Amino acid sequence: MIDDLYQEIILDHSKKPRNFGHLENPSATAEGFNPLCGDRLTLQLKIENDIIQDVRFVGGGCAISTASASLMSEMLKGRTRQDVEKLFESFHQLLTTDAGQAADLGKLAVFSGVREFPARVKCATLAWHTMKAALENSREKVSTE
Ligand code: ZN
Repeated sequence: MIDDLYQEIILDHSKKPRNFGHLENPSATAEGFNPLCGDRLTLQLKIENDIIQDVRFVGGGCAISTASASLMSEMLKGRTRQDVEKLFESFHQLLTTDAGQAADLGKLAVFSGVREFPARVKCATLAWHTMKAALENSREKVSTE
């Protein structure tokens, strides 16, 4: 069952989040909060020549928000801002419509089941909204509200 595999990947990433921690000299930092679920996250990026070189995050929340931040962090390195914005668009489509193009999304396809639980969409996108805020070098807190 593909759903079981997806479930396993989400559990694995929520228990052992990748790129968890702090960067020494981040180019950008942003904080995100999802009041509906209580998910919190601080994300740091190292950007050089418009390319994301490194990503770290700390925070806590439900399995979906942590796994989403972890899987996202694995996909950001080596990408430009533009790439990342396109990726977020595809990911958001995957979560909210049947037209979501899982093909471009690699492991992020594991979140396709979230579509059936609209309240969890904000858990799955929190890391992405926070990452966008960091890219825009915003110092303001991000809320999904
Ligand atoms: Zn959550």
